[in-house]
Amino acid sequence: MNFKNFPMVSKVVFGRGSFNQINEIIEPKRLNERAPFIYLIDDVFESNTSLISRISLLYDDYIIFISSEEEPKTTQVDTLVEDIILKTKAIPSGIIGIGGGTVMDLAKSVSVMLTNNGSSEEYQGWDLLKYPGVYHVGVPTISGTGAEVSRTAVLSGSKLKLGLNSDFTPFDQVILDPELTSGVEKNQWFYTAMDCFIHCVESLNGNFINSFSKSYGEMAYELCHEVFLGNDSFEEMQDKLMMASWHGGMSIAYSQVGVAHALSYGLSYVLGVRHGLGNCIVFNHLEEFYAKDVTLFKQMIDKHQISLPKGICKSISQQQLNKMIDVAMNLSPLWENAIGPDWKSVITRSKLEKLYLKM
Ligand code: NAD
Ligand code: ZN
Repeated sequence: MNFKNFPMVSKVVFGRGSFNQINEIIEPKRLNERAPFIYLIDDVFESNTSLISRISLLYDDYIIFISSEEEPKTTQVDTLVEDIILKTKAIPSGIIGIGGGTVMDLAKSVSVMLTNNGSSEEYQGWDLLKYPGVYHVGVPTISGTGAEVSRTAVLSGSKLKLGLNSDFTPFDQVILDPELTSGVEKNQWFYTAMDCFIHCVESLNGNFINSFSKSYGEMAYELCHEVFLGNDSFEEMQDKLMMASWHGGMSIAYSQVGVAHALSYGLSYVLGVRHGLGNCIVFNHLEEFYAKDVTLFKQMIDKHQISLPKGICKSISQQQLNKMIDVAMNLSPLWENAIGPDWKSVITRSKLEKLYLKM
């Protein structure tokens, strides 16, 4: 048996207002005056002076605003890396990603692709990157994905939606400031937060569960329960959810996700449905696999009056449906975790087709 030896985020700061310290935190990492810090920031903050004004741009530092309308693509990463190489005089001192899972995954990907040759598509998979990336910092502004703590950066390529999983992917520094999540729209808040709840459910109910994952998973599950079904203040909810996201991410680091993620990847790849929303659409139909938690999920939806799109697979072609099933079936570690080594006898194409057609 070979035990996995995982890197973790090297440094983390937590607290309401901790983002104020960003300049003093990163400055010691400046390599020289020609090597800039480059900020990738979700464009929802483009006119948010209270956030932008706290960043001191020195020497050649600059900001790239990123639209998270679509989730990250390998081609997008490659273009960003080419632009940065053309524009900067030296390899950057650091890449700072400020946003949700989309921007954080782009920041991680750009950091490692600045030092590894070729296209990011060549590195989708496990442990394919050869060299450490440049110093990279993650600042989440919406809670749930666990991207701030994970060892992967999920990208859609020409063939697959698959992460750059490597020891070089995790952030060197994370700034957890719950105040930054204040402007998130309610449905989006719920969808992304649910990603965390679903990470816990899939990890805790999977075959790969162990004490390491269980301890983090139970903590995050409990926090989600309090946030969604308790009576916390807005500030308490922000604080708890940020920590739930972290712990949920830690939980799956040493286990695996399950049925909801496998099916959600199919929806995302073929229809472009975003991760959090896709997970919710799928999870709503997974009583067979996660009965107790699907019931809880429905209570959460009701309590927060969240609307979920219906009938999204109604008018898709058989070809699209087949592709969705291909993408889902391809994720064997997820099925092994959820069902067991014999999963192919339970999870058939026709079973997945029926499930997709319900959504
Ligand atoms: P996101 O980053 O796509 O953002 C969702 C929306 O929220 C966007 O419209 C964004 O502009 C907005 N937003 C973010 N912060 C805001 C704020 N403070 N105020 C107002 N609006 C704000 O959403 P997400 O759910 O965080 O990330 C999804 C992505 O994360 C997917 O690409 C998925 O593949 C990835 N993911 C990665 C991991 C990982 O371990 N690397 C894990 C799970 C998901
Ligand atoms: Zn997820």
